[in-house]
Amino acid sequence: MITYLVTGGAGFIGSTLVRILRNNGCSVVVLDALTYSGRTENLNGLGDCSKFEFVEGDIRDSHLVASLLEKFRPTAVINLAAESHVDRSIDSSQIFVQSNIVGVHALLESSLAYWRSLSTADNEQFRFLQVSTDEVYGSVKSGEADEGTVFDPSSPYSASKASADMLTRSFFHTYRLPVLITHGCNTYGPRQYPEKLIPLMILRALSNKPLPVYGDGSNVREWLHVEDHALGILKTLKKGVPGYAYNLGSRYRLSNLEVTSALCEILGDMIPSGGQNDYLDLIQFVEDRPGHDLRYAMDSSRAKSHLDWETTVEFREGLVSTVEWYTHNRQWWTPITGEDYPLVRLGQEKEIT
Ligand code: NAD
Repeated sequence: MITYLVTGGAGFIGSTLVRILRNNGCSVVVLDALTYSGRTENLNGLGDCSKFEFVEGDIRDSHLVASLLEKFRPTAVINLAAESHVDRSIDSSQIFVQSNIVGVHALLESSLAYWRSLSTADNEQFRFLQVSTDEVYGSVKSGEADEGTVFDPSSPYSASKASADMLTRSFFHTYRLPVLITHGCNTYGPRQYPEKLIPLMILRALSNKPLPVYGDGSNVREWLHVEDHALGILKTLKKGVPGYAYNLGSRYRLSNLEVTSALCEILGDMIPSGGQNDYLDLIQFVEDRPGHDLRYAMDSSRAKSHLDWETTVEFREGLVSTVEWYTHNRQWWTPITGEDYPLVRLGQEKEIT
């Protein structure tokens, strides 16, 4: 039976991936440190099954990782464990170096030792997949970044991810460990921790709080639904060529202001709050994030031609279903937000009232 070790599987993208794997009958072991963004609730319904195992632990714990590899004999290690929020990396970058670089290095070393111990047949099947981001390419002034574009990260977060990618590549070139890397663009959908743009804006709007848009709101991001991101990771695992990286972009490129305005319109249709423009009136421009990349845009033709991967979720429809999910699943987010949770853009010093 095929078994996957999914690290960071209790987070936003990881839990979506685990759900898809389990729906396809695969055996899955999740290793997750349950930091602030990792939640066992994200894996609800998967626990009572012999094909699913949850282990609380850190990817930096080499003894633990080695024992899990030995015990469960996975066909692939898929690494989504990371500190994932740019604003937090601006506030304090130490844990980003620890989890995103030291952690990935530890995972690569353990995976290499395990891979070398496998029989020839299992050794040929094994893959190590590192989930990375489009942010490693930095701001793309014009055109699109492809997989050959030189890394130019701007934040401690993106620099830590770029470092991890380089380590991952080096284990292919030096040891021939069969690694794959995916560069996903900005992802949205159910169960995303409410500090990232889309869930933050939805929850603030529902609380009738100002919607803080950085700068003039013109920064452009490429938006991918979490189901499409997870399916792209799985296609990469299945069809990707070891040593290769694959951009997973959607071509839905919108400014932060456009995304926030679209959310306001959707909420206005779903939960009218009086006047047509009420939610739009909540938009407030705030001081820009330091080092804020102006534009991300990727050429994802390699994923389409090599992997036969295409996005399936149209952006506006994905946004509507995401708003619906947050409005129907208050029990998921109220324990996080509580009465005291500030729901601020974290680069800001003060709560916006
Ligand atoms: P997330 O913050 O929701 O999940 C990260 C998970 O990793 C959490 O469950 C957390 O508990 C776990 N974790 C953190 N440090 C750990 C450690 N040292 N050991 C074990 N577990 C640890 O993040 P996400 O949005 O699901 O992102 C998952 C991956 O995808 C990350 O590598 C991120 O860089 C990448 N990515 C995210 C996006 C996006 O827009 N969200 C886009 C592209 C790539």
